[in-house]
Amino acid sequence: MRIGRTLPPAAAPIYLKDVISGLKGLVRGQRELTRFETEIKDYFCVKHCFLVSSGKAALTCILLALKDLHPDRDEVLIPAFTCYSVPSAIVRAGLKVRLCDIDSGTLDFDHEQLPELLSRSVLAVMPTHLFGLPADVQRTRVACKDPEITIIEDAAQAMGGECKGGKCGTLGDVAFFSLGRGKAISTFEGGIILTSRDDIAESLRIMVDDLPACDFPALATLVLKALLLALFLHPSIFWLPKAIPSLKLGQTTYDPQFEMRRMSTFQAGLATDWIKRLAQLIKARLIRIGYWVHFVKNGRLRHYCSARVTTPNLIRFPVAVNGNGLRSAILAGSEAMGFGMMPAYPGSIAAIEDLKASFSTCSFAKAKELAEQLVTLPVHPFVKEEDVLRTSRFLERAFRR
Ligand SMILES: *Cc1c(COP(=O)(O)O)cnc(C)c1O
Repeated sequence: MRIGRTLPPAAAPIYLKDVISGLKGLVRGQRELTRFETEIKDYFCVKHCFLVSSGKAALTCILLALKDLHPDRDEVLIPAFTCYSVPSAIVRAGLKVRLCDIDSGTLDFDHEQLPELLSRSVLAVMPTHLFGLPADVQRTRVACKDPEITIIEDAAQAMGGECKGGKCGTLGDVAFFSLGRGKAISTFEGGIILTSRDDIAESLRIMVDDLPACDFPALATLVLKALLLALFLHPSIFWLPKAIPSLKLGQTTYDPQFEMRRMSTFQAGLATDWIKRLAQLIKARLIRIGYWVHFVKNGRLRHYCSARVTTPNLIRFPVAVNGNGLRSAILAGSEAMGFGMMPAYPGSIAAIEDLKASFSTCSFAKAKELAEQLVTLPVHPFVKEEDVLRTSRFLERAFRR
């Protein structure tokens, strides 16, 4: 166990003043949620916005709403390499997970494979801005010739990001952001749904209104957790929560049995000034992304920042490390020295124990390979130039060996 400066792999800091804004939000009540909703609609120029307890709750609501609109369709097509919360939400909504392999160059869908997977049972396709790296939503839309297929943009990690077609979260028929720990901006947990489609919004309204409000125990837990995050996220003390296994920091699990609620007024209050804070976070991350791009250019790491991305609002900087021994050594070294490097997800979605049986006939070779190679470097505002230099020297030594 390391005691001493330890970088979190990803962080959108919550400060004590934000927790105080959260408490003020509690006092202001419903007005606070309305304010947050209105700000989002204005900023993203969308007609409808819904606020819920998490990204996976947001996705579940979207899927339930679509299921009502298209009762004859029951498959949701997602990239074979993504967050385990995504299949959790699909199963929670009573739908079937369908996978498309990824393109190892862009982390987007493998667009060679996509068209043949678009059967009459497909309810929705989910282009995903993994780590904030914009997926080509337009290309997916063109591939979906059937207008009955809904494009759900998984912008969980991409709030504030932009790509050629506009702002991430406004490119599909409906989109969601996550406000979880380690996302672009955080209210400890939370989910935002955006759409300009009236039919989807109408169906969504029913689903979201049906959710329970945040009750007192859940609220008290949230306040406490937000406070702990404000206190313990700093690198000088982050080693402590990291050493407590029951907190399961950084673990991604498949579990359809999650809580679904409307967003609390405390969380809406926590998001006070989010436009300014998000802009500052993006600026801080871009500087660090610049360092890493410069470093990997001279090294033996593959990275994914291409020219297609105008503002790569990455929340972690993904790189591929070839060779299992080398990758394990790098991750172990990072653990020992607190560099905040992390594998992305433990495997492809097809490798999830509870889902395995449905994918036995296909291999998702590129997703599997990526899961074995990917490592992310931290880009959050706590990363100092000195951290980058130490990490770079460490990586160079690891490669020379
Ligand atoms: C985090 C995440 C989600 C789920 O969001 P939660 O707020 O954690 O429920 C969905 N998709 C992707 C790509 C994510 O990174």
